[in-house]
Amino acid sequence: MSRPHVVIVGAGFAGYRAARTLARLTRSRARVTLLNPTDYFLYLPLLPQVAAGILEARRVTVSLPGTLRGVRLVLGEADRVDLDRRAVSYTDPEGGTGTLGYDRLVLAVGSVNKLLPIPGVAEHAHGFRGLPEALYLRDHVTRQVELAATADDPDNRAARCTFVVAGAGYTGTEVAAHMQLLTDSLVRRQLPGLRRPRWILLDVAPRVLPGMDERLSRTADQVLRARGVDVRMGTSVKEATPQGVLLTDGEFVATRTLVWCVGVRPDPLVEAVGQPLERGRLIVDPYLQVPGRDQVFACGDAAAVPDLEQPGTFTPMTAQHAWRQGKVAGENVAASLGLGRRRRAYRHHDLGFAVDLGGVQAAADPLGIPLSGPPAGLITRAYHLAALPGNRVRVAADWLLDTVLPRQGVQLGLVRSWAVPLDTASPELPRGPHRAGEPAANRSGAERPPHP
Ligand SMILES: Cc1cc2nc3c(=O)[nH]c(=O)nc-3n(C[C@H](O)[C@H](O)[C@H](O)COP(=O)(O)OP(=O)(O)OC[C@H]3O[C@@H](n4cnc5c(N)ncnc54)[C@H](O)[C@@H]3O)c2cc1C
Repeated sequence: MSRPHVVIVGAGFAGYRAARTLARLTRSRARVTLLNPTDYFLYLPLLPQVAAGILEARRVTVSLPGTLRGVRLVLGEADRVDLDRRAVSYTDPEGGTGTLGYDRLVLAVGSVNKLLPIPGVAEHAHGFRGLPEALYLRDHVTRQVELAATADDPDNRAARCTFVVAGAGYTGTEVAAHMQLLTDSLVRRQLPGLRRPRWILLDVAPRVLPGMDERLSRTADQVLRARGVDVRMGTSVKEATPQGVLLTDGEFVATRTLVWCVGVRPDPLVEAVGQPLERGRLIVDPYLQVPGRDQVFACGDAAAVPDLEQPGTFTPMTAQHAWRQGKVAGENVAASLGLGRRRRAYRHHDLGFAVDLGGVQAAADPLGIPLSGPPAGLITRAYHLAALPGNRVRVAADWLLDTVLPRQGVQLGLVRSWAVPLDTASPELPRGPHRAGEPAANRSGAERPPHP
């Protein structure tokens, strides 16, 4: 009898864990195929440290073929799921196409940058959802500071040294905290004549880290303000232009940098599946199965999973949930094939949050205990080391080096502005320039002529 075929789409927190669990439980009694555009799992929570030059980019990646024995990796992006034919069509990184038939399907495609209909934002802002965007931001910020140092016009100099981050959730807060330390260090060590760069953190919410414990918000707010970050709550962007940003309070801030961290939305692929959605997320039952489609499972950011701890709500889009849902999805797929234990419902208590604020500072509430300062910093880093599915020694080594060596202030210029549009279904891939024979537009967004 032929072995059943399980296809997992997406190798993030949920998909990676589902693949690992399935490989362990089925022990070659099922074929497990993982479809993902990159050959690595990306540990997103450490991305701000890549942008800030603390960690080298490869440190936050974990090789899929190197760590998932018994799982076949297919490099590509799913562009169509046909539930009736039980087939997933995909495009590989070189434009080739293929189709994967399945007996069980796990959709774990995560989320992408959330856009709001604000004039100019799609054209002039950059998101923070993938490695290319983190590499771009590091180069861009370094370049602005270096260009400011030789600018004769004081207005030009001030604009280049002003950085705006929209969205004060954990991503925006960490980006502002880490990048502010980076620009301070660049100016202090390399360009001492330059005025201290200005960072502005905006959010429509009344406090930073909205939705998290108020004590974490207070800690983050205090740390950021003490470092000189202009924390403006109850304020957002009304319009973005090449010259700067018009705020909702009427002020125009001259800047060349708008980092868009206002949140994420589920990957558009789930909408194309044609099943009921909750705010763009595919609705599943507590067993992570799509109602009426017993062979289809979904988990992570892309799935609306009932929160059994808070009936009537869905689990939030966090790595903590995605990672644990991936395990349950793997177990339940195995159970549905008669290869594992009985299926179980997904249930998880939040274990708290950890927000790294750079240096030795963090705001954390492990198991509900609020911490700040160096103890929080220590717990946060210990948590990340424990949570990383690989590369721990390399990450720890980079942290150690960062405490004893100055940060490298160079821009490589490998990822340019046009390669990381905000409006993209593929933040994990830099968009390539249009080549003859290729479609003019792909999932990564419509082609725009490259400019520097
Ligand atoms: C900068 C940043 C910091 C964060 N920090 C924290 C934190 O401290 N704590 C926390 O709990 N959460 C944090 N999060 C949120 C957390 O990372 C997400 O909730 C988590 O990654 C969701 O996991 P996932 O598996 O659903 O999606 P992802 O991890 O995004 O993985 C989705 C995978 O699917 C792939 N994919 C997408 N589309 C396709 C397609 N069409 N075909 C094939 N593959 C596809 C992607 O390439 C990716 O590999 C952070 C997020 C960001 C951006």
